[in-house]
Amino acid sequence: MRDIVIAGAGMAGLHSAEALRDAGYDGRITMIGAEPHRPYSRPPLSKEVLTGVGSPKGVALRGDEQIDALGLDLRLGRAAVRLRPGDRSVELDDGSLVRGDGLIIATGAAARRPATDLPGVHVLRTIEDAEAVRDAFGSAGRIAVVGAGFVGAEVAASARAAGLEAVLIEAAPTPLMRAVDPRVGAVLTELHRDNGVDVRLGTPVAGFEGAGRVERVRLADGSAVEAPLVVCGLGVELNTGWLAGSGVRLADGAGGVLCDAHGRTTVPGVYAAGDLANFPHPRYGGRMRLEHWTNAGEQAAVSARNLLAGEGAQEPYEPVPYFWSDQYKLKIQLLGQAAPADTVEFVHGSAEDRKFVAFLGRDGLLTGVLGLRSTPKTMRYRPLLAERTTWDEALAAAGFTPRR
Ligand SMILES: Cc1cc2nc3c(=O)[nH]c(=O)nc-3n(C[C@H](O)[C@H](O)[C@H](O)COP(=O)(O)OP(=O)(O)OC[C@H]3O[C@@H](n4cnc5c(N)ncnc54)[C@H](O)[C@@H]3O)c2cc1C
Repeated sequence: MRDIVIAGAGMAGLHSAEALRDAGYDGRITMIGAEPHRPYSRPPLSKEVLTGVGSPKGVALRGDEQIDALGLDLRLGRAAVRLRPGDRSVELDDGSLVRGDGLIIATGAAARRPATDLPGVHVLRTIEDAEAVRDAFGSAGRIAVVGAGFVGAEVAASARAAGLEAVLIEAAPTPLMRAVDPRVGAVLTELHRDNGVDVRLGTPVAGFEGAGRVERVRLADGSAVEAPLVVCGLGVELNTGWLAGSGVRLADGAGGVLCDAHGRTTVPGVYAAGDLANFPHPRYGGRMRLEHWTNAGEQAAVSARNLLAGEGAQEPYEPVPYFWSDQYKLKIQLLGQAAPADTVEFVHGSAEDRKFVAFLGRDGLLTGVLGLRSTPKTMRYRPLLAERTTWDEALAAAGFTPRR
């Protein structure tokens, strides 16, 4: 293999390139990135960048020298628009064609946009988005955040830190419905309320109103939230459109690029990694797709090594999923899967203390560990999730005796 193309210059794209070089590959690597920036980290965009502790320019994943040392043919500000069927030729938006012996798809996701183009309504995915929201923080005084997923929750927390009044609007009955069990989500609702956020749950948005720019968010129950600044955290749209007609199959359900346990797609020599990769996970009894920073790096490294290794020498990707979120200077950490769960037990601390480790289980097995303000205790349980651990074994490992 002498020619590898990486589509996407984010976390997964960068780690793909680094893993190829670490494995001794010294052929050409062409990396195509739609944004004008070298690979950068998104987690600070909703945290340090908004609170003013960090700068949007300081989020680079690597220094210029480190990127230069990878010897990439870096095509920034250029999008892949088509993958030719049955081939590994990628067409770019300037009409050029890049062909590789191998291709890694790492084009990730874009923020899902609300159905309005009123100025003052933002999403948060890119450096430019974060700069725009941070600038707006300076004069808005009040913000409405639509969607209480992790990004929305962090924006609300950062807005409070920056001195804004904040209203957090969520259609579901608890925040983070997609990611955590409602019993844990309820604690996070209280965390926002403790910090002065007006949390409106179970209230879908009907629309955005204002003369020339946003002035209020209209809710489905007819009420309105007045705010000159709105940030929407409505989840993502996966950047898979350019693969239409290529033979790379997309997955049902959680969507994304259908991969096998080795990161292989349905087209030979084409692998995927990061937010858009949908892969089977034996310990969770099905397929999954993770929108997690750590996953993007780890999965990219495995896909890249497998591309080089070829048939028969490939390693499976069976991670312990890991996600963290920083809100109100508190760290929330999730190992494994926290939803759906049929059993929840706070094995250390308590919800009232706003400091705990909760075990989450399904069908008699431990499936997730969620910690608030408890980093060492939470991370200690990672090995339990790296293998099949029954609920009772997990409780015993924590020295926890359930009250009957
Ligand atoms: C505001 C925010 C905060 C977050 N905080 C956390 C956190 O605290 N903890 C955590 O675990 N995770 C967090 N995440 C998630 C984490 O950042 C993502 O999981 C990670 O960025 C995924 O990396 P990726 O490389 O797969 O995709 P992306 O980061 O989406 O990178 C894909 C790249 O490909 C480019 N691209 C898209 N289409 C094309 C195309 N057609 N051609 C060429 N290039 C293309 C994109 O411009 C982008 O640069 C956060 C995400 C956001 C947005």
